[in-house]
Amino acid sequence: MVDCLFCKIARKEIPAAVTYEDETVIIFKDIQPKAPVHLLVVPKEHIESIGHLKGDHREIVSKIIFAAKEEAAKNNLKGYKLVFNVGRAGGQLIDHLHLHLLGGWTEGVAQSLNV
Ligand code: AMP
Ligand code: ZN
Repeated sequence: MVDCLFCKIARKEIPAAVTYEDETVIIFKDIQPKAPVHLLVVPKEHIESIGHLKGDHREIVSKIIFAAKEEAAKNNLKGYKLVFNVGRAGGQLIDHLHLHLLGGWTEGVAQSLNV
């Protein structure tokens, strides 16, 4: 069993503010939000990063993106950002694949966060 924070959240060994869950994906609030709405869309399977994807992960990645889209709609987000940090040099601190869903700014504010 992998000793990993997000695996432990997926297994309910560590609490998190879960907003959605199915057999493949869990979504919970980021503990240090960088936007008014900041959720993490996480596969239950331990995959280290986008850089570690294999061919048979295609369906999981697709499910993550669709779950993010549906969660954004549930939160009435007009626009949002979806971010995968990949590797330390890409800002990834937790080595379990996760998609940041960021939104809820008032109009114009997101513009200033563009990279
Ligand atoms: P990254 O830098 O892409 O690896 O993002 C990791 C994210 O996980 C950061 O935005 C953290 O604030 C968030 N995080 C760390 N620990 C927890 C936790 N226990 N529950 C929810 N989010 C967390
Ligand atoms: Zn993990």
